[in-house]
Amino acid sequence: MPLKEKFERNKPLSELSTFGIGGPAEFFIIVTTIEALKEVITYCYKEKLPYLIIGKGSNALFDDRGFRGLIILNKIDFCRYEGEEIEVGAGFSFSLLGAQASRKGFTGLEFASGIPGTVGGAVFMNAGAGGVETCTPLLDVEAISPEGQQRRFAKEEIAFSYRYSSFHENRYAIAAARFQVKKCSEAKQKQLTLLNYRIKTQPYQDKSAGCVFRNHPAHSAGALIDRCGLKGLSQGGAQVSEMHGNFIVNKGGASAVDVLNLLDEVAAKVKEQTGIVLEREVRVIPYELPR
Ligand SMILES: Cc1cc2nc3c(=O)[nH]c(=O)nc-3n(C[C@H](O)[C@H](O)[C@H](O)COP(=O)(O)OP(=O)(O)OC[C@H]3O[C@@H](n4cnc5c(N)ncnc54)[C@H](O)[C@@H]3O)c2cc1C
Repeated sequence: MPLKEKFERNKPLSELSTFGIGGPAEFFIIVTTIEALKEVITYCYKEKLPYLIIGKGSNALFDDRGFRGLIILNKIDFCRYEGEEIEVGAGFSFSLLGAQASRKGFTGLEFASGIPGTVGGAVFMNAGAGGVETCTPLLDVEAISPEGQQRRFAKEEIAFSYRYSSFHENRYAIAAARFQVKKCSEAKQKQLTLLNYRIKTQPYQDKSAGCVFRNHPAHSAGALIDRCGLKGLSQGGAQVSEMHGNFIVNKGGASAVDVLNLLDEVAAKVKEQTGIVLEREVRVIPYELPR
């Protein structure tokens, strides 16, 4: 069957984001192997079809009009342990990886437990918690170029900083990653302590995309928002969480425009009251990708 006939049409992106927001994707496909990802990207390159690869949609705000082009949902989810190294498909749950590695008595990935994205999304965002970032235990990354070529990036070939990797610019699709871990008898306890803290301090039951603003070097964005009295502020169905100031939650029927308006209002009020300019962490996915 020609590849294009395997594409689903008008897939609601609200089903693919933890915010529960987003219009229809023009075309949609799920990939479960690196070969399939390569084939799809090669097709997009040849046909000049714009595409975006996503994981759990836990840091993505999709447009109310949806997405023009192909959304590739990454479900490449193998996971192999070899001594103190783990090779894992980019569609594997990052949270599960953290819990599983700790349960097996390996330290290095405890912080991942509770981060509700994929390994690919975590590498792309350099996701982190408790002072540890994805790039810390990372060894290398297998990725597919926008032309469909596979290559391996050693960690040193990737630029990482706070919630940033050079994959933001080079548009490679992350297919797999390898992590270095170490045997440690306290790993399981450390992971449970981090997870319990997270459950107590973050609104896990609500639809959100986690922290929407990047922390300022000297101040946590959540503390600044709280200090400015903005918890509970709302626009349409979107509300600044009462539990954590840096979370915007979908209280029901929120649109992307509601969230964007609320982000603007919060940033303007924080700037007015403190002089600090907050920058967005959440990835706003446009209807049309810039050419
Ligand atoms: C309740 C909650 C708690 C959270 N806590 C944390 C936290 O403690 N720390 C933290 O850092 N984040 C946190 N997040 C945010 C989010 O989980 C992370 O940013 C996560 O890494 C995103 O992964 P994802 O698979 O969901 O990516 P998506 O949201 O699907 O995508 C995000 C971006 O990554 C790109 N991308 C995804 N997969 C790939 C790939 N395979 N190749 C290339 N690009 C890709 C997408 O195109 C998009 O631009 C939280 C979110 C929620 C909802």
